[in-house]
Amino acid sequence: MNIVFLGPPGSGKGTQARLLVKEFNWAYFSLGDILRRLAKEETDLGKKIKKTLEKGKLVDDQLVAKILKSFLEEKASCGIIFDGFPRTLSQAKLLAKAINPYGKIDLAIYLQVSDKEVRRRLGARLVCPHCGAVYNLLTCPPKKKGVCDFCGHRLKKRSDETLTAINTRLKLFHQRTRPVIDYFEDKGVLVAVDGERPIGVIYQEIKKIILRLGAYKPRQ
Ligand code: AMP
Repeated sequence: MNIVFLGPPGSGKGTQARLLVKEFNWAYFSLGDILRRLAKEETDLGKKIKKTLEKGKLVDDQLVAKILKSFLEEKASCGIIFDGFPRTLSQAKLLAKAINPYGKIDLAIYLQVSDKEVRRRLGARLVCPHCGAVYNLLTCPPKKKGVCDFCGHRLKKRSDETLTAINTRLKLFHQRTRPVIDYFEDKGVLVAVDGERPIGVIYQEIKKIILRLGAYKPRQ
């Protein structure tokens, strides 16, 4: 089963996707994580990606297609959870074409969160640069201030979580990603989930949707 997570920045896509990956042992495609890794490299490409991320803009489709192709070559035999991809209609079409030899998108989960809540959440978000764990000082703070619960590294604010970058990311979500939501609705695979509830409640709902769809059993 292949699942796409859609929603504005800060809607909890990564949090829910990581919980599913842990329980169901699926492959995880987070384009944001891959790009953040590439942005750390001291290469021309790394520097270019870093600038794009800091502005909250989208990287170009040519690069996205290249990353997707090599991921699918390696992981397409497993079920895949796509987080933050596709973000534009052209990417949705690119994904449909690229995944066709291996399967299809069975489910698109749209996490609905208002712009007001997005701003509130992103302003309080901290991430672990080492293991990628995500915290929120308002809703799920780390046990020890400023330190990752899982690997002990120092937590940071994401460089694309300045006010200007948050505004750009929200604008791009409304302009470019909304048509993707309609696209999956037309395909009959879209399920909207209220993303403004506690993480555990949302997770249970998502699990029910997935288990209803197929014979996928969580790992014992
Ligand atoms: P995320 O971690 O999903 O919030 O993504 C962080 C940033 O990575 C975005 O603001 C974009 O700059 C870039 N990015 C992530 N996914 C995509 C995508 N599908 N297409 C283009 N750029 C992306």
